Formats: sequence, structure tokens, C-alpha cells
Amino acid sequence: MLRAVLLGPPGAGKGTQAVRIVEKYDVPHISTGDIFRKNIKEGTELGKKAQEYMNAGQLVPDELVVDLVVDRLSQEDCATKGFLLDGFPRTIAQAEQLDKFLAENGQKMDIVINFTVGNETLMARLTGRRVCKGCGASYHIINIPPKQEGVCDRCGGVLEQRKDDNEETAANRIKVYDEQTAPLIGYYKETGALADFNGELPLDEIFDKIVEAIGE
Ligand code: AMP
Repeated sequence: MLRAVLLGPPGAGKGTQAVRIVEKYDVPHISTGDIFRKNIKEGTELGKKAQEYMNAGQLVPDELVVDLVVDRLSQEDCATKGFLLDGFPRTIAQAEQLDKFLAENGQKMDIVINFTVGNETLMARLTGRRVCKGCGASYHIINIPPKQEGVCDRCGGVLEQRKDDNEETAANRIKVYDEQTAPLIGYYKETGALADFNGELPLDEIFDKIVEAIGE
């Protein structure tokens, strides 16, 4: 059982570490960004509402995000295994709603895994990122290249660039993080759940430190 949140700016490595954490701790991975992208692909009402905000690098309004996460956290697998939230909460209001849900259900957050990465590194990571259309695996044209250019090592799918990973939108997402999400660091410091990690270290090293913090 693990109840954890991944916090950090876009490009900090939340998704990359999430894959490893969910594998080791057998816990449901809840990425709000992935949920929105799936809804956009499927052309749902939610997808239509979220699309404009995402393409502009803005946050989707809290009321569209919170219910969706609360519904997901209410499902059986989260009750028995816990959860790894990736990309939520992103505002103080979202964090308060999450706390409310946890309190109402007699649950407690084990850890908030916070990544720190300099802005220059973030930009290079975001604009060089490529994602598999099939399985969602994440690559980087320089740092984590696939064996064959444009092809996923894992499933052979086509790699593409996320629509919001262009320079202008990426820069805006970092700004939005600084303004609206970074205050969560102080919020979670007060609860005692915050654990800081240098997101510029090699991936394996970061993961080892996370495991040390969570426990085997
Ligand atoms: P991500 O995949 O986490 O980088 O999220 C991509 C985009 O989805 C963000 O830039 C937002 O537009 C939207 N999004 C994802 N999670 C949230 C959230 N918790 N609150 C508001 N918007 C979100």
C-alpha cells in the first residue's frame, strides 16, 4: 500500500519515475495529463473542454480535474493498493480537495515526491521529448534515444512529439508551474510529507533515492 504524489515542473521526470515506482510497488498510476490526452483522442466532451487549455500550456480548470480524480480514487484498486498521482494536484485548491477526500476516507498521504530541475534543463527535456503513440513510453532525442529513430523500443509503435512540447507552449507551462503549482511545495512541507529529489541526477540514482525514502 502506497499513497504518493509526484510533484515538480513539466519535464522534471515525473512520468519516467512513475513507470518505475508503479512497477515496484504495484500501485495504480493516475496521470491527469494522460487521462486528458486519452479523452482528446476519443473525442469525448471532457476532451473537447480540456484541449484548448492544454494546447495553450494553461491549466485545465480545477472543477474539470477534481471530480475526475476523486472518482478514480474511489475505485476499488485505489482503496486496496493506494495510488501514485502524477500531475495532480497542480493548484492549492486541488490539494485541498485531495486532502478532503483523504480525510473523509480515513486515508493519509505517505509521501510527496518533489523533483527540482533548473529551467534550462526543463526546456531542453520538453522540446526533445518524444512519446510512443502506442504505449505512451517516453524518450528524448539526445538523452534517451530509441534504438531506431522514431520507433518505440518497447512496442514498435511510432514516436511523436506532444502538441504542447513546442518551445512556446513549453515555456508557458513552466511559467504556469512557477505561478500556480510551486506554492504546493510550501503546502506539503507543512504536512511533513514532502521529500525533495534532485531531478538532474541520473534516472537510476533518483529512483534508488526514492525507494530509500519510501522503504522497500
Ligand atoms: P502533463 O501530462 O502532466 O504534462 O499535463 C499536460 C496538460 O494537461 C497540462 O499542461 C494541463 O493543461 C493539463 N493538466 C494535467 N493535469 C492537470 C491538473 N491537475 N490541473 C490542471 N490541468 C492539468
